[in-house]
Amino acid sequence: AKAEGRNRFHFFLPAMQQEAQTKMILTNDLRLAAHRGELSVHYQPILDLEDGRLEKVEALLRWSHPGRGEVGPQVFIPLAEASGLIHEIGNWLSFQVISHIAQWQKRFGQIIQVSVNRSPIQFDQGDALWLKQLAGLGLPGNCITVEITEGMLLKKSERIQQSFLDYRNHGIEVSIDDFGTGFSALSYLKQFDIDYLKIDRSFISEITVDESDKALTEAIIVMAHKLGIKTIAEGVETRAQHDMLRLFGCDYAQGFWYSRPVPASAFETILGRTQTE
Ligand code: C2E
Ligand code: CA
Ligand code: CA
Ligand code: CA
Repeated sequence: AKAEGRNRFHFFLPAMQQEAQTKMILTNDLRLAAHRGELSVHYQPILDLEDGRLEKVEALLRWSHPGRGEVGPQVFIPLAEASGLIHEIGNWLSFQVISHIAQWQKRFGQIIQVSVNRSPIQFDQGDALWLKQLAGLGLPGNCITVEITEGMLLKKSERIQQSFLDYRNHGIEVSIDDFGTGFSALSYLKQFDIDYLKIDRSFISEITVDESDKALTEAIIVMAHKLGIKTIAEGVETRAQHDMLRLFGCDYAQGFWYSRPVPASAFETILGRTQTE
């Protein structure tokens, strides 16, 4: 058994070293990515299920690596978090998003509310920078929704409490991302002023075939509404899912059925089309 253990050790070490090395190289590349124009923001529409209107959108980061092609956020966000680069990238993203909102307002006469994902680590830096940019352009706070995951609300950190107060004072809205997949301690829902629950894709994907997913989704919507919270369904891929969510009174929906995340220019085309309808 001892020999076997040693073999396993020998077997895994090079692979681990290689993975660590790849991570290091990628992190170094990421450091330069923003300056080199390799990062971009894609936008995925969020539809109002009641009237079909498009007034919300989620901002999602994309990295086009010169040698590796598209590197997914699932890969590079963790690297950005571990290296602290998330602060710089997050600031860059906020700047892009806020400029886009201002441009769209000018061009389409409409304020689009953009959801921005925020890592727990980003709360260390506070929100002063982007709040100032928002105010500088004369934009209302509610054109930004901050998406966070439920885990961080259980940590009872003072910084997060402070951020929530800042958000409330500025009219920024808050959304709980991937709802139902995390720690499921619902107590935070009464401690924090939450505006939206995003029902995770893992519930939605089987909603029309799995009775438990159907029941849970319906229950989450009823509970949220009783607490004065709106619901957004994630990962809607079929008409049947869309119909069922409407029937359940879900407020908003997002997913490939409506649109994949698209570059800003393509999102503008979508906006232009909905304007003339
Ligand atoms: P998320 O916040 O849950 O974002 C939703 C993900 O689901 C996106 O993946 C989106 O492309 C994908 N998606 C949307 N509709 C559908 C659908 O109908 N079917 C399927 N199968 N997938 C759908 P993406 O863009 O690869 O992002 C993955 C994750 O990376 C995000 O999950 C988020 O946690 C993180 N991420 C992306 N951009 C940022 C960012 O700017 N900051 C931070 N902190 N995290 C980000
Ligand atoms: Ca999200
Ligand atoms: Ca999500
Ligand atoms: Ca509220």
